[in-house]
Amino acid sequence: MPLVMKFGGSSVADAACMRQAAQLVEQALPHAPLVVLSAMGKTTDALFRGARAARDGRLDAARAELEQIGARHVDAARGLFDGAPPAELEQALRGRLEELERIFQGLALLAELSPRSMDAIAARGELLSTTLFAAYFRQRSADSEWFDARSVLRTDSAHGAAQPRMESVRALALERLAPRLAPGRALVTQGYIGADETGATTTLGRGGSDWSASLLGAALGAHEVQIWTDVEGVYTADPRLAPRAEPIAELSFAEAAELAAFGAKVLHPATIQPAVEANIPVTVRHTLRPAGRFTTIRGTSRGARSVTALATRGPVHVLTVTSSRMLAQAGFLARLFEVFGDEGVSVDLVATAEVSVSLTVEADAPLERLVARIAPFARCEVARERAIVALVGERLRETRGVAAAALAALTPFHVEMLSMGANEINLSVVVKAEQAHDALRALHARFFESA
Ligand code: ADP
Ligand code: ASP
Ligand code: MG
Repeated sequence: MPLVMKFGGSSVADAACMRQAAQLVEQALPHAPLVVLSAMGKTTDALFRGARAARDGRLDAARAELEQIGARHVDAARGLFDGAPPAELEQALRGRLEELERIFQGLALLAELSPRSMDAIAARGELLSTTLFAAYFRQRSADSEWFDARSVLRTDSAHGAAQPRMESVRALALERLAPRLAPGRALVTQGYIGADETGATTTLGRGGSDWSASLLGAALGAHEVQIWTDVEGVYTADPRLAPRAEPIAELSFAEAAELAAFGAKVLHPATIQPAVEANIPVTVRHTLRPAGRFTTIRGTSRGARSVTALATRGPVHVLTVTSSRMLAQAGFLARLFEVFGDEGVSVDLVATAEVSVSLTVEADAPLERLVARIAPFARCEVARERAIVALVGERLRETRGVAAAALAALTPFHVEMLSMGANEINLSVVVKAEQAHDALRALHARFFESA
């Protein structure tokens, strides 16, 4: 059974990080590792900026982005090969960069950037990082191979946010990937990217390499999916927001999925699903501190706390819809949700009262259209720039007083909405976006920092 090792952008950000990642892969060679890499840190952002600049006719700005991307890869190649990278590698990197330059010229000429072109451009980040890493790894450890993820990661054609076609992924992975995996050799492939039925390059959405890793792990029946990143696992809250947050040793699939969906960037929100279906443990580990703490995510967890972790996501908008007649009037909610369904807008939190219902939608939801469609049958108020703060824990459902304690900790803030998830492991509040980080810290202090 193979092992999937995914290294995120910061874990392959320069030569030193790549060396460290390679060393970890080398140690794992007996487990037939499939190495899934992100683009080198900051590269995907630069590709997006460059493509948009080119489309807007600012070719100089676009070229400047390419130069930086080029310099990052060339510097790393020099660092990895003691100043003298093999000529084929330099040529391969240069070739990919020149191709990008031609694409950017095309964008400038057409003044157009379709989601399909954007995917073809964004994918170059992962194609570059894996080309470099595979060349380096081959030099260290003879038996290894670069593999194009697009030949197995079949998706639909929703460019920018493609959905995997799991049946095809499984069949293709068994046919094309599995025979190449064996103890003693490493296969190096890209996260984030795939291809649709016509062969067009697609991407799974920002941060999607985690998802690639678990999709491929599930397709291959891996014994573990390792997410190597820049923190020692999933913490009780984003350590950048709550400096006293601590890594959690064990999380259930449901807790991890909930935390990811409510803003814990350490995992892409869809990562857990394939792992759940195949019952494969996912571990989250620190690339530069491999002997440190880490998190294991599996079917059940033995955590003792009522609240396992906190997360926050925003901005979101809150819509409060008040029926001119009674809410209980048959069909009102059906009619209301039909509007969101028709507009393809997903609703996150819902709280109902006698004559009104409040719900949250993403900041990019088409508010004007939603309000116009609701207006004929109900009054709709919109509160913008709000954020969700979520408390997540398998034991929430069996612990009394969590909501009371949470609300007490949130006294300084105006809580506009409170919602207990139907799965009973998520208690969410909505506050003004500018207060979300302070609210999260107040909750963290209450639930995790008292001795
Ligand atoms: P990668 O490039 O490896 O995919 P990301 O930047 O996507 O890494 O994710 C790691 C980051 O996620 C951390 O640096 C941390 O700031 C953030 N993060 C958010 N919530 C959490 C959490 N609960 N636990 C750990 N890290 C978190
Ligand atoms: N490189 C992609 C991004 O930055 C995917 C990933 O890193 O997971 O979004
Ligand atoms: Mg990530």
